[in-house]
Amino acid sequence: MKRILWFRRDLRVKDNPLLSFEGEVLPIFIFDQNILDSLDKDDRRVGIIYNFVLKLKKELQKIGLDLKIFYGKPVDIFSSLDLGEFDEVVASGDYDSYAKQRDREISHMIHFRYLNDTYFFKPREVLKDDGSPYLVFTPFYKKARAMLEKKDFKEHKRASLSLYEFDYSCEFDLKKSGFKNHKIEYNPYVKIKSFKTKLSHYKDKRDLLYEDATSGLSAALRFGLISIRELYREFVGLDGAEDFIRQLLFRDFYAYLLFHFEDLQTHNYKGSFNGIADREKFERFCSATTGVPIVDAGIKELLESGGMHNRVRMITASFFTKDLLLPWQWGERFFAAHLNDYDAASNILSWQWSAGTGIDPQPYFRVFNPYLQSKKFDKDAKYIKKHLPQLKDIDPKKLHDEEYLLNTQLKNYPKPMLKHKEAAKKAVEMFKNN
Ligand code: FAD
Repeated sequence: MKRILWFRRDLRVKDNPLLSFEGEVLPIFIFDQNILDSLDKDDRRVGIIYNFVLKLKKELQKIGLDLKIFYGKPVDIFSSLDLGEFDEVVASGDYDSYAKQRDREISHMIHFRYLNDTYFFKPREVLKDDGSPYLVFTPFYKKARAMLEKKDFKEHKRASLSLYEFDYSCEFDLKKSGFKNHKIEYNPYVKIKSFKTKLSHYKDKRDLLYEDATSGLSAALRFGLISIRELYREFVGLDGAEDFIRQLLFRDFYAYLLFHFEDLQTHNYKGSFNGIADREKFERFCSATTGVPIVDAGIKELLESGGMHNRVRMITASFFTKDLLLPWQWGERFFAAHLNDYDAASNILSWQWSAGTGIDPQPYFRVFNPYLQSKKFDKDAKYIKKHLPQLKDIDPKKLHDEEYLLNTQLKNYPKPMLKHKEAAKKAVEMFKNN
């Protein structure tokens, strides 16, 4: 058999089902022009993927294979290949609406074998008794967790493979493309080792902003630097692992919802209120100058490192959609361009959750108070001060005190752009009446 192995969200050799079928192979990766043309040159995703793809190429060379790195539109690239030479293309499922459409088109050109690699479950595996998808996380979780117990998660062993003769050059030049080289140093095995030492405190400390109590594995999962099955094997049964596995199933749930409800990508599931476009408010949010310390600290972290703690993502997204009443789609795109771990399903569904418009969302009338949130999760304001060093000498209590901030002109830091209580009241009215 001759196969095209299409790497996408599985940029690794170990435990990769793509490499488990014997025969002659042409491994490929495509820098998709349809996607790249719509991105800003500062978009972090491109440089990050580029570096992981080059690393994969080296890993494949070490085992006697290689990787052809294309640049162009997938349909054109497949048309340019001599498809009559191949029996099939093999790739792991990718579930956002563009990916589904793209794969459908390719499947009309050559037999397409889909593998399940990115998530624990295929999108139609965990269903209600009547065959419909779950709409609420907890029952999904209960069913999926019980099913996980019965899964055979043995490692996918590499088959005996030979390389199809081809020119294995890289057609994509990051420098020439004009995209910035956002490289992240990232070793998932180092992260796993370190996280295991903290696992027993994960539940209690994961929301504390200065504790570094979470795994930091989201980028590894996004790019498939480690298999989800290997991660499960590493952690299952350890003290504290159940809360971590629950979060991994959350990730499955969001991808599953996006697969079953494609419209979620751009449209509300609940309610018709879609925010109020206001460029000035948007600019203040994106430049970390709202005057609300926890919000600005989060945006600073995002802009400077591409990371942001989950709790701060929730606080900033709530502030964006409720206090500022901006369209959640704007915030989603802003995060997409800056997050190291950007994942369409997790990002879109989380933004819809925050806006109160998604499936199983945060109720629209629940609006995070950013000052109470920072008081609870960043009591000593260590996180705030780390990212907003101009506030380093201010008493932490004052950084959680809206009245103080509204009435004091601090050096190099603006006053809050709104009063939270008033903004929250307006938000509830807008969501209720629309
Ligand atoms: P851990 O706490 O160690 O969790 C382990 C893994 O579980 C994570 O790596 C992630 O894969 C998964 N996970 C954890 N929490 C969630 C969650 N709430 N939803 C879905 N999966 C979760 N996550 C992304 O991977 N990519 C995104 O683009 C993304 N955008 C988000 C946008 C908003 C507005 C919000 C509120 C959350 C978003 N998340 C996103 C979810 C979450 O913030 C990150 O997965 C988490 O912060 C990653 O850190 P960690 O790996 O240390 O997480």
